[in-house]
Amino acid sequence: MSSELVIVYHRQPYEEVVENGETIRIPNKSPNGIVPTLKSFFGSVEHSSWIAWKLAEDPSAPEFDRKVEISDEHGSYTVSRLPLSEEQVREFYHVTSKEAFWPILHAFKERYNYDPVDWNNFRDVNQQFAQAAAEEAAEGALVWVHDYNLWLVPGYLRALRPDVRIAFFHHTPFPSADTFNVLPWRREIIQSLLACDDVGFHIPRYAANFVSVASSLFDVDLGERVSVDRSFISEATALTEREVRTSITHEGHTTAISVCPVGVNTRYLESVAQTPETAAKVAEIRKDLGDSRLIISVGRTDYTKGGVEQLESFERILDAHPELRAEKLRLMHISVPANRNMTAYAVTQAQIEEAAGRLNGRYGTLDWQPVTLVSRALPLDELVAYYQAADVAWITPLADGMNLVCKEYVASRTDDDGVLVLSEFAGAAVQLHGAVTTNPYSHRGSDHAILQALSMEPLERKRRMKHLRAAVKADDISGWRPGTLELGAALKPGAVA
Ligand code: UDP
Repeated sequence: MSSELVIVYHRQPYEEVVENGETIRIPNKSPNGIVPTLKSFFGSVEHSSWIAWKLAEDPSAPEFDRKVEISDEHGSYTVSRLPLSEEQVREFYHVTSKEAFWPILHAFKERYNYDPVDWNNFRDVNQQFAQAAAEEAAEGALVWVHDYNLWLVPGYLRALRPDVRIAFFHHTPFPSADTFNVLPWRREIIQSLLACDDVGFHIPRYAANFVSVASSLFDVDLGERVSVDRSFISEATALTEREVRTSITHEGHTTAISVCPVGVNTRYLESVAQTPETAAKVAEIRKDLGDSRLIISVGRTDYTKGGVEQLESFERILDAHPELRAEKLRLMHISVPANRNMTAYAVTQAQIEEAAGRLNGRYGTLDWQPVTLVSRALPLDELVAYYQAADVAWITPLADGMNLVCKEYVASRTDDDGVLVLSEFAGAAVQLHGAVTTNPYSHRGSDHAILQALSMEPLERKRRMKHLRAAVKADDISGWRPGTLELGAALKPGAVA
């Protein structure tokens, strides 16, 4: 019971490998992503903790370290690990979180699968997370819980520790009431979230949806809506989403509802973009391309990312535009497989491979493959080189909480060139004025957006990229916070590198 800050995130904050019977913990390879961002908060307090699960077939076996002490560039902190069996992880993560919650959060009701859910297992795992957080937190500490697979933690934790402050952040979209209320556990989930002091979202629309879901399920009092001086502008819909803060009072407890879009570490990305190694890599990529232009697309292999739809659009464009075939236009499609053992993702991977294969089969020649499909994660420095070498970044998820790839692309374009084509259903679209925004559900709209990007004049590209760079810098990672809550005056996220 000594930590002023407790971060509750389901994964451990490092990679663990066993070599010659010895466990080695190495910092996550990638300096980007949520884990280093969260760890950067540790530098500002004396002692902090992180709660995660760890696979353990026999949790009572002596070699299982329930707690490990870590010292790294972010400071010293305790990692409290919950020993979960393979079956518990499968039920809690792969089934309940990914087959039931994930499709609902991204508004794919038809993919929602309720049958295999073991709700008692989900409750039990969340209860264990709450128990571990309660054990670590000092009096009045801030406990910051992340994402939908830990939805029930705030409720359990509040019962155990009424004194702590609880913040919860949703990294995904939050859908409207007609979609969210498909979940049969909707009241239990919202009741738990209303035990928080702050519930945070990336963009105003998700926060507004949460308020309407809570109001549809409970008799709540809504606080006064306060506009804060930041507006989000979506070029696609011509709507301005003004940031509004409000609160929900339920059964005597008030929860602030806040909007805090996560950003990227622009300083770090710019520094990588400007190294001689990156310049050499960019020159190499461009040399390989010859006179061909390059479109880059990056995302996880997930049906929400719209990879299949994008490849279909590319095929239609090549079909209709012989001049693009003549110039040997190239698409580098990086699709990073996740959860290979899950059917939904394996099907998406197969569809992407089939679409890329069909395209290359139809149009490929001895010296030209229209699509280069990369099915593994590239290290960030290599990604930055591709971002710089690409004429266009094509990021068109069907639904995405934020999408950091598009912000990384912009942060890497220290030359103020390149065009971003962005789905209006990525959270980032409401911030990134200057992107060519598009609706990936519309064939005509998708095809038009990429053609517009390819035909954009250099001056227009520069004008837009300057806007984009200003937007990405204005909301970069250094401004991200646990909603309205402060961890004393010292709380500030440190730079990642
Ligand atoms: N990423 C990477 N290598 C790759 C592809 C992606 O390191 O080959 C990283 C990328 O730089 C970004 C993250 O994966 O930081 C993806 O985050 P995003 O928010 O775009 O999507 P998510 O996968 O979290 O839904």
